Amino acid sequence: MRVQPFYCLAICILALFAALTYVANYSIVMSGVDTIESRHMYESMHQLQNYLRFTELQMHQRVVDWACWDEAYEYVITRDEQFINSNFDELFLQSQHISFVAFFYNDKTPFRFLDNQQIYDDAFFLAKKDASIRLAEQLSRRDSDAVFGIINIQNSMFVVAAHRIYDGNKLKPPRGILVMARSLDESFVAEAEKMIRLQFSIVPKERFDNLAFEKDDTHSFKILKEKHFFRVYSLCNDLFGNPAYCLELVTDRDISKMGQSMSLKNCILMIGLGLALLLIGLCALHQKEKLIMKRELAYRIGHDSLTGLANKNLIDEQLEDLLHHAGQYGKEAGVFFIDLSRFKNVNDSYGHEVGDRLLQESAQRLRSVYPGAVLARTGGDEFVLGVEYAKKDLLPLLAKQVINSLADPFYVNEHNIHLGANVGIAVFPCDGKNAQVLMHRAELAMYAAKLAHQEGFLFFAEQMGQIAAQRMVLEAALYKVVEENGLTVFYQPKVDCVKKKVVGLEALVRWQKTDGSWVAPPAFIPLAEETGLVTRIDMFVLRTVCRQVKAWEKDKIAVRVSVNMSAKSILSANFSEQVNAILQEEGTSPGSIGVEVTETCLVTHLDMASKAISILSHEGIEVSLDDFGTGYSSLLYLHALPISCLKIDKKFIDDIDAPDGSSNSLVKGILALAAGLGMSTVAEGVENREQLNFLRQNDCSVIQGYYYSKPLNAHDCEDFLLHQKERIAAVEEGKA
Ligand code: C2E
Ligand code: CA
Ligand code: CA
Repeated sequence: MRVQPFYCLAICILALFAALTYVANYSIVMSGVDTIESRHMYESMHQLQNYLRFTELQMHQRVVDWACWDEAYEYVITRDEQFINSNFDELFLQSQHISFVAFFYNDKTPFRFLDNQQIYDDAFFLAKKDASIRLAEQLSRRDSDAVFGIINIQNSMFVVAAHRIYDGNKLKPPRGILVMARSLDESFVAEAEKMIRLQFSIVPKERFDNLAFEKDDTHSFKILKEKHFFRVYSLCNDLFGNPAYCLELVTDRDISKMGQSMSLKNCILMIGLGLALLLIGLCALHQKEKLIMKRELAYRIGHDSLTGLANKNLIDEQLEDLLHHAGQYGKEAGVFFIDLSRFKNVNDSYGHEVGDRLLQESAQRLRSVYPGAVLARTGGDEFVLGVEYAKKDLLPLLAKQVINSLADPFYVNEHNIHLGANVGIAVFPCDGKNAQVLMHRAELAMYAAKLAHQEGFLFFAEQMGQIAAQRMVLEAALYKVVEENGLTVFYQPKVDCVKKKVVGLEALVRWQKTDGSWVAPPAFIPLAEETGLVTRIDMFVLRTVCRQVKAWEKDKIAVRVSVNMSAKSILSANFSEQVNAILQEEGTSPGSIGVEVTETCLVTHLDMASKAISILSHEGIEVSLDDFGTGYSSLLYLHALPISCLKIDKKFIDDIDAPDGSSNSLVKGILALAAGLGMSTVAEGVENREQLNFLRQNDCSVIQGYYYSKPLNAHDCEDFLLHQKERIAAVEEGKA
């Protein structure tokens, strides 16, 4: 598949779609993630705060248990160390995580202070003692039995609880205060982290003095977001109501990571969806393209790419439809088989480009003859036209229009080209009931029209089938005889009726079949032209003539012999080279040879024909224009070409002295024209004295015709030449 702009565009759109999807997804998901994360952080912080509250209550409960006990009540009075030793020994303090314990009576300093660190003289010890004093004071000032909370002692946090000391049943008045504290040290943090599954630390507030906390009703919070962690800080008051420490909670940004991976997954999903849509679109497009291609293919199968007309495949179907319709409405239909004349010559000499243009133009002309007809190009220069009709006289009228439309000259690439056409017609239903039969019969009729040797039309007749069969037999036999050089050449004298001598001969090909019968040139020359054999025939005649001329020269007979050259031969490649080669091979001088050409090739291919004629004439070969007057007789090429002789066609000679006298004036006109152009003339087909006299009176002295002699075989011709004076005289006397 070619890389179409569409696919590039589709890929760009997909890429843009992917980018937009990612950005949109990211911002939507991540804004939600942000809210969830913040809420999660607040909740975690509350959980931590609750845990600390729980720790405070635990400590309070523990103090209550100790302080409301008869033995403790007694101890305040007795201060018996035994009580301390059995209840507050080192092991107990450590196992219960008790940092320090203080017993107060009514005075401001504890009468007994226990510190599980056992370092009594350092500042920290004193600070702890001092803290317990402040706590006892706090409790004394209040009208309650207990006080508890968290305090900061030299930047270490402690959970502390104080309670008045009572007897077990709380019946007697309180006697002193008991203070107990637990350090919120690493072991506490580790234990708490395990319990609440959060990572945190308790930090003195001084470290966060420059942090701008946001306050809600009870707490001051601050959340810091890092790439991989969330840090949330909560500023807490101590038991005295002063800001004392900070809780720092650190959590992985799992939700954010989840959000990111979710938006990535969403994006991939969307891209997948986009890709799927794109694929569906492409598939649909592909299907559409396939459909178009299928239609195009169907069109191509049924149509001729050059002319756009239907072709062999489609015309069959179209004609069947036409016949079906005609049959239904009781109408008749005509099938025309149209064959262009001389098209193959044009194609060979001007090239295919011109040939193609001619076919296109021909198709257009045919189309405009009867736009409602079905029309097809069925072969190289063959067209089929089908038409349904109600009035019988439509067919001959249409046939004439077809022929006339193609007879007008074509102007292609600055060439004026004359084609023409032969048309065969078969009629439905009398000549056949289906398209195939009718086309075949129309084709037979076309061949018959062609053989009739005129551009015209013929309706199919039963015997045409036989003619076609005969033609095939003839064609095969002609191939054989040409292949075997089995043709013969006859010679017809051209006699100067004034000087009474033979001035030239015309070589005429003859075909004697194996059964001894003769086939006349008009019966096989058109076929030879059609099959392309004619050039081989012309060259065979030329070679035979060269040999004959040479043989006569030996016998001291000098005569110029003219050879007929078909248009096909003259327009074939290397025509003049072929002629020269034969002349050289046979050692013949060009002066003993003449060439007769018809107007046909001049009309259709003036440039090529004039080139070939000029070469021949330049070399001394005499060129005559045959059958003059029957074709286009254009002054243009008469003037432009080195033609030395005009041969007046037998048709005009036949009509000499006819009642309307038109031929007489035509012959006179031709003779005047030839004289004016400095050309000699030969009158063809002169059969009687009247014709001869008329011609002699009008200065046409060279006569060819049965009057003097029919075409003769070489032997008889030699005899005629040797005794020409006597023969001519005998003829004139005999016919006088
Ligand atoms: P064409 O070149 O016009 O030749 C003259 C034809 O008229 C010859 O017919 C000749 O026999 C015939 N003819 C001559 N005088 C008379 C007459 O007084 N009365 C009648 N009725 N006929 C006369 P042919 O030999 O049958 O040739 C017919 C045509 O065949 C020739 O016409 C020529 O066009 C063609 N042809 C003959 N031989 C050759 C050839 O070797 N090559 C080519 N290309 N064409 C040839
Ligand atoms: Ca001739
Ligand atoms: Ca002639």
